[in-house]
Amino acid sequence: MFRSYRILRYCVLSTVPREHTCDLMVIGGGSGGIAAAKRAAKHGAKVVLADYVPPTPIGTKWGLGGTCVNVGCIPKKLMHTAALQGDVVRETASYYGWKMPPNESLALDWATLRKNVTNHVRSLNFSTRGALMDHSVKYLNAYATLQTANRILCHSPDTGEHHVVTATNIILAMGGHPTYPNIPGAKEFGITSDDIFRLEKPPGETVIVGAGYIALECAGFLAGFGYPTKILVRSVPLRGFDSDAVERVVRHMTSTKTTEFVTDLPKSLVRDNGKLVLNTEGGKNLVCDTVLFAMGRSPKTLGIGLDTIGVTLSPTSHKVIVDADNRTSVSNVYAIGDIVEGGLELTPVAIRQGELLVDRLYASQSQRMNYEHVATTVFTPLEYGCVGLTEAAARAKYGPEKVEVFHTGIWPLEWTVPHLPNDLCFMKVITLLPQEGGRVVGFHIVCPNAGEITQGVAMAMVAGLTKSHLDQTVGIHPTIAEAFTKLFNKKDVPQAAVPGC
Ligand code: FAD
Ligand code: NAP
Repeated sequence: MFRSYRILRYCVLSTVPREHTCDLMVIGGGSGGIAAAKRAAKHGAKVVLADYVPPTPIGTKWGLGGTCVNVGCIPKKLMHTAALQGDVVRETASYYGWKMPPNESLALDWATLRKNVTNHVRSLNFSTRGALMDHSVKYLNAYATLQTANRILCHSPDTGEHHVVTATNIILAMGGHPTYPNIPGAKEFGITSDDIFRLEKPPGETVIVGAGYIALECAGFLAGFGYPTKILVRSVPLRGFDSDAVERVVRHMTSTKTTEFVTDLPKSLVRDNGKLVLNTEGGKNLVCDTVLFAMGRSPKTLGIGLDTIGVTLSPTSHKVIVDADNRTSVSNVYAIGDIVEGGLELTPVAIRQGELLVDRLYASQSQRMNYEHVATTVFTPLEYGCVGLTEAAARAKYGPEKVEVFHTGIWPLEWTVPHLPNDLCFMKVITLLPQEGGRVVGFHIVCPNAGEITQGVAMAMVAGLTKSHLDQTVGIHPTIAEAFTKLFNKKDVPQAAVPGC
C-alpha cells in the first residue's frame, strides 16, 4: 500500500510541475546565492533558491552551501590546520620541553581527519538549510534552466520533481567547477579539489597540475601530512602575486617540506600496476598515487538557457558580463560571485556582491561593490596575505618615481627557540611618496597566521592608511605584526633585513 503510494507520488511529482511565483529567483546556493537570498527575504521579498550539485567524474557529491563550504575554503582551512598541527608536533614541541615520540612513529590518520572534516561540513549544510527556512526562502534542491527572462524550470534528478518558477528578478550565482586538461586519462584517473577532501583512501604521493592558489594550498597540506608532492608549473607559481613574497612561500615549501616544483605540462595520464603515471610534454613519466588538476575553474554558465534569453557571456571565459550594478545584458537578470567576468573568485566577494545587490533592489540603497581593498590569503604552510597592489603593479600604475617600497624580514620569536629559518617571514608595504599623499597602496606579508594580520591592514587601507600612520603606530611586543614599526626603505636596504627579536 505504502509502496504503491510512493510510486504514484513519484509519477505525479515527476510529470506535473509545481508552480511558484516570486519576487526573486536565485540560481545557485553557494556563498553569493545564499547571502543574497537571505538578505532579500529580510527586506520582504518573496524568494525561491535552487541549488543542485551534479557528481564529479569519480562520483563525489555534496550538499547545500556551494564550493566554499563543501569543497573549498572550509575543508581546505581545516586540512591546512591539521598539517600545521603536525608541524608543531614534529618541529617545535620538543624544543619547548614536550617529551615527544620519535618522528618516525608519527602518522596522520587520513580516515579520522576526513570523517571529522566531512562531519563539520555536513553540519554547515544542515545549518544553511535551516537558515533559509528561518528566512522563509523557498529552497529547491533542483537544477535550474531559464526558459524566458522570467520563467525558470527546475528539475531534481534525484526525486524526479519539476518546478516552474515565475520571477520578477533573477540572480545568477552558479559558481564554477575545476577545469580538466584535454589529455587522455584526465577524467578517468585524475581528481580535482572537488574530490580531494573526501577521498576514501589516503591520497599518497601526489602530482598536482597547476601552480595557483589551489595547487599550492593542496600541496602544502598534503606534504604536511607526509605525502610527497610535485607541482607541475606552466609559467611561475602564484602568477600575479608579489614576486618577493612568492619566492619565500616557494622556498619554504621546497626547503622544509617534501614539495618539488617542476616546470612542465601534462600530456597523458595512465594507470600502471596500481600506480598512476603522468607523462609530460617534457618527456617525464611521473609515477604517483594521485594526480590532482588545479588549473583554474570554469563558470557553470553553459547549457542553462542564458543564450536563449540573451544574457551576454565573455566569448573566452564564458563568464557573465555585468555592469557596476551587477546587471547583465537582460535588465531583470543579475549575476554575482565566481561567474562574474572581471570579478574575484573569493567567498567574501560573492557575499558582498549579493548583499549589496539586493540592498539596491529591495531596500532603496545605492552602494556598489568596491574591489580596491579586497584582501586575500594563500593558505600555504607559510601563509601569504596581501591587499592592494604588488610592487610591480604599483610602479606600472603610478609611475616608478611616485612609489616607495618599505620592507623587512621577520624572525618570529616563536621560531627562535626551535631554530626554524630566520630568512623566510617577511613584510612589504608599498606607498605613494609623501608629496603624492603617502597612501599605502599595497601590503604583503609572509608569516604564520598572515590572514589574521592582513584583515586588519585591509580595514586600515579602506580608512585611508598612509606611511605616516604606520610611523605613528606603537607596536605590540613581541608580535609578528609589530614589524610595521620597523620597516626599511627598499632603496636603502635592498635585501629585506632580519631584525631578530
Ligand atoms: P559557489 O559557491 O560555487 O556556489 C554555486 C552553487 O550553484 C553550487 O552549489 C552549484 O552546484 C550550484 N549550481 C550551479 N549551476 C546550477 C544550476 N543551473 N541550478 C542549480 N544550482 C546550480 N575563497 C576564499 O575567499 N577563501 C578561501 O580560502 C578559498 N579557498 C578555496 C579553496 C578551494 C579548493 C576552492 C575551489 C575555492 C576556494 N575559494 C576560496 C573560492 C570560493 O570557494 C568561491 O569564490 C565561492 O564559493 C564562490 O561562491 P559562488 O556563490 O559564486 O559559487
Ligand atoms: P588559479 O589561481 O587561477 O591558478 C590556475 C593555475 O593553473 C595557474 O598556475 C595556471 O598557470 C595553471 N594553468 C591554467 N591552465 C593550464 C594549462 N592548460 N596547463 C597547465 N597549467 C595551467 O586557479 P585555482 O588555483 O584553480 O583557483 C581558482 C580560484 O579560486 C582562484 O583564482 C582564487 O580566486 C580562488 N581560491 C581562493 C583561495 C583563497 O582565497 N585562499 C584558495 C583557493 C582558490 P599560469 O599561471 O601559467 O596561467
